[in-house]
Amino acid sequence: MSLPDFKLMRPRSIEAAFDCLGQHAGNVRVLAGGTDLIPSMRQKLFEPQYVLDLRGIAAMRGIKPQPDGGVEIGALTTLRAIERSDFLHQHYPVLTEAAGTVASPVLRNMGTIGGNICLDTRCLWYNQSLTWRKGCGFCIKKDGDLCHVAPGGTKCWAVFSGDTPPALLCLNAEIEIAGASGTRRVPLRDFYTGLGDDYRKLQPNELVTRVFLPASTADYSGVYRKLRVRGSIDYPLAGVAVVMKRSNGHVADARIGITAVNPAPMLVKGASELLTGKIVDDALAEAVGDLAARTAKPLTTSALTPEYRREMIRVFTKRAILAAAAN
Ligand SMILES: Cc1cc2nc3c(=O)[nH]c(=O)nc-3n(C[C@H](O)[C@H](O)[C@H](O)COP(=O)(O)OP(=O)(O)OC[C@H]3O[C@@H](n4cnc5c(N)ncnc54)[C@H](O)[C@@H]3O)c2cc1C
Ligand code: SF4
Repeated sequence: MSLPDFKLMRPRSIEAAFDCLGQHAGNVRVLAGGTDLIPSMRQKLFEPQYVLDLRGIAAMRGIKPQPDGGVEIGALTTLRAIERSDFLHQHYPVLTEAAGTVASPVLRNMGTIGGNICLDTRCLWYNQSLTWRKGCGFCIKKDGDLCHVAPGGTKCWAVFSGDTPPALLCLNAEIEIAGASGTRRVPLRDFYTGLGDDYRKLQPNELVTRVFLPASTADYSGVYRKLRVRGSIDYPLAGVAVVMKRSNGHVADARIGITAVNPAPMLVKGASELLTGKIVDDALAEAVGDLAARTAKPLTTSALTPEYRREMIRVFTKRAILAAAAN
């Protein structure tokens, strides 16, 4: 599949990037590592006139520990750099573990944390060639007006399939969103909409520039578990991140994040309350697993059945809680 024609723009500064976005508003696609954007362009899911290649902007790269004990991560930092960071491994292990499961080593060398956060939602009826999609009459997410997954409905249920966002949600991460009119810092949990065809709160002339992890969640034990067909390369079909802090054997704080089973990555509501103050045992881990499984709403957007993916959310949550409590 060939790439559609486009003009490549390579700014060297964030300001120059905003100029490009401003001049060609609506006709630009942002490229970070390109590991998701380029395959999507080959499938003619996006046919922008301009592609804004961010890779020359050094200011958007790097892992910078902060004096207060937190850390700032540039959006262009590769997943490989995150996976291999001693600082992150020591203080935010759930993030290095999740980053290390993305795709394959080659793709992690190119793919960035910003691209992983901004990743388009996926569906078996959408991530296909133009000929394939045309043969099926297209769908709501692009060029059509029906949903093959939930016929009769008007909502797109394409599933968010990034690995690092559930870990980042557990860590109470914030992101910096920058545009020509200024920057704002928002909790990652407010970034996603839950709509498969309009999945993130980002204007076409805005960029995600930095990710912040607070000192308050440093040194929590963390575990990420992921279901995929091929262990060496695939997107998650269900993923669970757990972070936990314990004191005198009791859970002092904990959060559970899930991915690949809803149109947005999300925290499991009520999990912290269920765990806090308790000693983790099999029954408690199982109860939180049940809660996570009820939060997951997988549909036939992906390989493997929804029932199996939901069951694996239950199983992985239980296992991850027991593993985090044993660390
Ligand atoms: C075979 C294969 C397997 C994969 N497996 C996985 C997997 O297991 N887990 C997983 O999470 N991902 C997987 N991916 C997807 C992808 O490799 C990763 O999600 C990667 O992190 C994307 O980052 P990128 O920098 O390459 O993003 P790009 O492809 O450059 O961009 C992705 C999207 O984000 C936007 N974007 C990127 N950076 C910014 C920014 N700073 N501000 C605003 N918008 C931005 C782009 O415009 C685009 O819409 C896989 C891809 C392939 C091809
Ligand atoms: S969930 Fe429905 S509308 Fe969305 S991409 Fe899949 S088939 Fe299309």
